Amino acid sequence: MTTNVEMLSTGSTIGILGGGQLGRMMALAAARLGFKTHIYCPDPNSPAFDVTPFKTIAAYDNHASLREFANAVDVITFEFENIPADALMILEDVKPTFPGHLALETSQDRLNEKLFFAEIGIETAPFRKVDSLADLQKAVVDLGRPAVLKTRTLGYDGKGQVSIQYDTKLEEAFSLLNGAPAILEGFISFSREVSVISARNLEGDICVYDVAENEHRNHILKRTIVPANLDAQIMQEARNIGRITAEALGYTGVMAVELFVVEDPEGTRLLVNEMAPRVHNSGHWTESACYTSQFEQHIRAICGWPLGSPQRHSNVIMDNILGDELNAWPLGLNDSSVSLHIYGKTEIRSGRKMGHANFLSQKPVSDS
Ligand code: AMP
Repeated sequence: MTTNVEMLSTGSTIGILGGGQLGRMMALAAARLGFKTHIYCPDPNSPAFDVTPFKTIAAYDNHASLREFANAVDVITFEFENIPADALMILEDVKPTFPGHLALETSQDRLNEKLFFAEIGIETAPFRKVDSLADLQKAVVDLGRPAVLKTRTLGYDGKGQVSIQYDTKLEEAFSLLNGAPAILEGFISFSREVSVISARNLEGDICVYDVAENEHRNHILKRTIVPANLDAQIMQEARNIGRITAEALGYTGVMAVELFVVEDPEGTRLLVNEMAPRVHNSGHWTESACYTSQFEQHIRAICGWPLGSPQRHSNVIMDNILGDELNAWPLGLNDSSVSLHIYGKTEIRSGRKMGHANFLSQKPVSDS
């Protein structure tokens, strides 16, 4: 049921699988456009439950609840990509569901993802499939050291990754994955990490936001700076990658592509690290610095609405508020350039994303 979607009228109900901060921000954007949301999440303390009129607390493999949820809404979307295949089938069978199969299956498996980008002519890190210790030994000979061993599925924020250094024992590295199918990636000596957020609606219109530069701390995004410090031509190349990817997937909604910037004697190149078929942490700056945020853009796209302007009216730095950094926050509000979003999570844990702050500054007139 992913075709022939009419433009949904305000008052319709958007079903969102996942009740974290992304679901919360999508629900807030939906409410501003007059939609209602119904959030489905197993965790009764989900931050998105604070801002939605309808909720279902049930497991993602509870087929009866999934069916009931799908029947209660007009369109369905996700805040995360690891939707079990059978859950997706149930939802798609009942209501239009975005993004569809191709984007989810591509992004759920790092091997599929790499093969997809190779097929559309976009460079990634060199990679090899690793199902056994023998595969790993051969892959390390092919790609050299250092390298990065990654599980094909369910890895995020550096989880499911093992760094292969010059002295790493391959038996030990392989055993850390507990037999999970994996890939080995060549180590990319990048100068920066950037990302590009794009949106495609049901009509096939595409818009792409400005390129953002990302800084990680312990593999977790800490800061996003916009515009990225890149020259105009590379910036345009990055935006083209966002556009081509959304087009090739026949995508509906907002998605992110994360890129490595490599500067070598031949010039500057972009390599895709990974994509995320959803609104993305490196797009939170759009909430304050653009005419249409990534959250509103996603809601517009999946509801058959025209896309809004992705234009950026300010320069911006987005800081993730991690763990107990939250405690410092009321003080930071003295800064008149800051706009704050606290996610309402009840438990503070080390490295947990508790909120974010967007610091705006004037965009120079010459900065188009
Ligand atoms: P990922 O979960 O694949 O996004 O990886 C998390 C972080 O690990 C990335 O943001 C990079 O900083 C680093 N990383 C991942 N893959 C590579 C690679 N092939 N070479 C160098 N650094 C990497």
